[in-house]
Formats: sequence, structure tokens, C-alpha cells
Amino acid sequence: MFDPRNHAPAPAELAGRVIAITGASSGIGRAIALACAAHQAQVVLIGRNAARLEAVHTEIAASGAPEATIAVLDLEKALARDYDAVADAVLERYGRLDGLLHNAGLLGTLTPIEHYDVPTWCRVLHVNVTAAFALTQALLPALKKSADASVVFTASAVGRRGRAYWGAYAVAKFAVEGLSQVLAQELEGISHVRVNTLNPGRTRTAMRRQAYPAEDIDTLPLPAAHASAYIALLGPASAGVTGQAFDAQPS
Ligand code: NAP
Repeated sequence: MFDPRNHAPAPAELAGRVIAITGASSGIGRAIALACAAHQAQVVLIGRNAARLEAVHTEIAASGAPEATIAVLDLEKALARDYDAVADAVLERYGRLDGLLHNAGLLGTLTPIEHYDVPTWCRVLHVNVTAAFALTQALLPALKKSADASVVFTASAVGRRGRAYWGAYAVAKFAVEGLSQVLAQELEGISHVRVNTLNPGRTRTAMRRQAYPAEDIDTLPLPAAHASAYIALLGPASAGVTGQAFDAQPS
């Protein structure tokens, strides 16, 4: 049975593939963008902070990997025309899209539902679910032009079993699982687009520090430790696998 945790990617495993990653500016998204490029993918770096995206772009160029492109998109503020502009740019430059990793995320606050701030709830649901839906919808024509496309939504343990105080973040991650399952069924048999979720698990990033400020974060794995699992799901190793929920770390 396919398990992305057991995968050892070949050096050029993603050669010829165009892979878009949201939240490619920092944390897990940045590490996976660098890893995909190192395995020869042409990466589309999507994020809200142009300077950080340019730094990732420069790092990819300096490594000798295939050139990346940048799409500045603030998932909190983007309008329909902004999503369409990204889709148009991808189609114009590459003619298709072979991988889409929804990685950008917002933690919100750790607060009981009884006291959860409604505007914060709306922001978290919007960035973590609605924006991912809108971007997927805009990019579906490009994904359908691929002979083997993979959409990966980033999951979380608190979106598979509810946990007190995780509020909008947990609910959004549950919704992402639902979105992934619905989309996977709709595309199965009528396209070459597969759809799955991947939970990176506890990882040394700014979001983890925000959630657990008292934790010794140096004990946690770096984002790059999950690269093989992400490449397994974004690349040819997971061909035919759809509608599933995976973990990047042992549970
Ligand atoms: P992170 O370091 O905080 O990175 C979050 C990314 O999302 C950043 O690139 C950030 O951009 C981007 N982002 C946030 N709001 C955005 C917006 N409005 N528009 C565009 N981009 C936006 O967190 P991370 O830990 O790497 O998280 C990556 C994913 O893994 C998230 O979906 C998270 O829920 C999931 N996850 C993480 C852990 C963990 O332990 N770290 C565990 C389970 C799941 P900026 O660079 O501009 O801030």
C-alpha cells in the first residue's frame, strides 16, 4: 500500500513537472519548494510576501535547479481576478500544471469556541479553506491539461480528531479533508487529477512556535525532513492514489 513516509525520491524524480506551492515564502512551504526544485521540478512560488519569495527564487537559481517563477497572491485579500491572473500566467508560461500544494495557513488563536473572536474565525476559514478552494478552481483547467496531476492539501492532526481550543484552525482543517474528498471523487475517472491530504505533523516553524510558545522547538524536525513525503504525493510515485489522507511522520 502507498505510504509517502516510505518513499526515497530519485534525484530527478520531478523533472518535467510544473508544481505550484502556496506559502512558499517560509516554513514548510519554502522547504518543500526548495526540495521540489532540487528534484528538478519547475516551481511556481505563491505567497503574499514578494521579498521572501524572491529570496527563495534566488536560492533555487543559485542551486542550478530549473528556474522558478513567483506569483504574489495574498490569500486573505485576493479577488477572483487575482486568482485568474495566476491561472493565466501559469497557462501562458507552462501550458499546464502538474502539481498544486496548498500549504499556506493561518493559525488564528487558541481560544474556547465560547469566546472565539468572530472576525478571526472568518479570516482563518477564509485563508485555510475558501482561498484554497478558489485557487484550485482557478487552476483546474491547467491541472486538467497535465497527463498526471496531483493536488495536495495540507492537513493537521486537529483536523482529523477535534481538540479543545483549536477553534477555527481545527474546523478549517476538517473542511480541507472534506474538500479534498469531494474534489477527488468529482475528478476520478474523468481526469488525470488526483487529490489527497498530507499532515506534516509537529514541525519546527513559526506557526508551531506561535501555537506552543513554551516548547523547546529545537527538538522538532525541520521542515526539510518531510521533503520525501511531499515529493511522493506531488510526483509520479502516487499515480492513481486519490481521495486519501496521509501523514508525513509516524503517528
Ligand atoms: P508558517 O511557517 O507560519 O508558514 C505559513 C505560510 O503560509 C507562510 O509562507 C505564510 O506566508 C503563508 N501565509 C499565511 N497567510 C497567508 C496569506 N494570507 N496569503 C498567502 N500566504 C499566506 O507555518 P508552517 O508550519 O510552515 O505551516 C505550513 C502548513 O503546515 C500550514 O497549512 C499548517 O497548518 C500546516 N501544519 C503545520 C504544522 C507544524 O507543526 N508546523 C503541523 C501540522 C500542519 P508569510 O511568509 O508571508 O508569512
